[in-house]
Amino acid sequence: MPPTASTASIFSETPESLTERLPAIGQPRFRAAQILDWVYKKRVTDPARMTNLPASLRAWLAETLDFAPTRLVLKKASSDVTDKLLLELRDHNLIETVIIRAPQDGVGLEHSRKTICISTQVGCAYGCRFCASGLAGWKRDLTVAEIVAQLIEVCRIEDARTPRARAELASFDNIVVMGMGEPLANYDNLIRALSIVNAPWGLGFGARRITISTSGLVPEIRRLAEEPLGFRLAVSLHGATDEVREKIMPINRRYPLEKLLPAVKYFSERHGRMVTLEFILIEDINASEDQARRLAAIARDLHAHVNVIPYNTVEGLAWRRPSLERQRAFERILRQAGVSITIRREKGGDIAAACGQLRLKVERDGRIEEAPARAAALRSS
Ligand code: SAH
Ligand code: SF4
Repeated sequence: MPPTASTASIFSETPESLTERLPAIGQPRFRAAQILDWVYKKRVTDPARMTNLPASLRAWLAETLDFAPTRLVLKKASSDVTDKLLLELRDHNLIETVIIRAPQDGVGLEHSRKTICISTQVGCAYGCRFCASGLAGWKRDLTVAEIVAQLIEVCRIEDARTPRARAELASFDNIVVMGMGEPLANYDNLIRALSIVNAPWGLGFGARRITISTSGLVPEIRRLAEEPLGFRLAVSLHGATDEVREKIMPINRRYPLEKLLPAVKYFSERHGRMVTLEFILIEDINASEDQARRLAAIARDLHAHVNVIPYNTVEGLAWRRPSLERQRAFERILRQAGVSITIRREKGGDIAAACGQLRLKVERDGRIEEAPARAAALRSS
């Protein structure tokens, strides 16, 4: 039977879960480590090529577990530093994964900071008014395997870019969970997937280099604070008062600032690491000097870093990015208040803004110049 989105996948297995399956098919337990070594260290995802396994086990693997829950349908380099991957799932839903190579001053692209942005849901239920991912609503949560497989796709691309040696995932500086969907609304799958990404037998990527971005789900932020793995937290604030935030993010009615900010503080105190507050600047909505002063006060109180993101126009949404002058005035107020800030200007820096938009475009009108045949196929499917 061909695999479906609900077929068990190799990318959600752990040494323990695989070991449990093996005696039933007459295989010794040590095979589990061999199988996972092929997948994560040798990056071989065709059981037929796992040459140290007996033929019967290879056949069982191919039949029982899905080794390709995602399929790369489009790779679009939106600038010299950003690769957006459009991935098709077994049920034909589309998700995005983005690779950003941000060059450092004075050094070549090979020495750039590399970040991977991954998705956690198909669509999003939270309906933030600036965001492409929420426009078409929520379809479903991603499975553990679909979250892990996004990173396998990135590994494949990187392996191909550096033919001399296998490019380890470790060559990336960060993974940000900032793609399509609200990660904390798919909490269990997210944590299980990130544990595999982190595990020494898995992708071996440090938890401290993984940032989870949330629109502000208060109970889950508190729950995340108790996780043994110390993932970093980014909070999409986008408004420094309830009045403004409510206009932008419906979630603020359920979790207003008086509930959200103490939860963020709790997380930050438990971790002893700075939390990031994300703030998209939207003309006439949240870019006033008053908002800047209030944001500065919040950031100082939380000892948080602020990421200022000039709004990226989304087709179908009316909002605009403020003038450069207004952006600078906003930033100046934060700096003068002693707040640590980063500004994501153009190009590959606008990481998350990229997420959700490519899928929206393909699903709406199939306008992908680079792959007309594929876009046509997606339209008719
Ligand atoms: N649901 C989570 C993670 C995904 S969205 C969350 O809301 O945090 C992550 C980020 O994408 C948002 O905070 C915002 O920083 C960015 N984003 C989405 N649409 C954007 C747009 N049109 N312009 C700029 N940034 C955008
Ligand atoms: Fe969902 Fe985040 Fe987009 Fe809001 S910003 S609609 S929570 S993906």
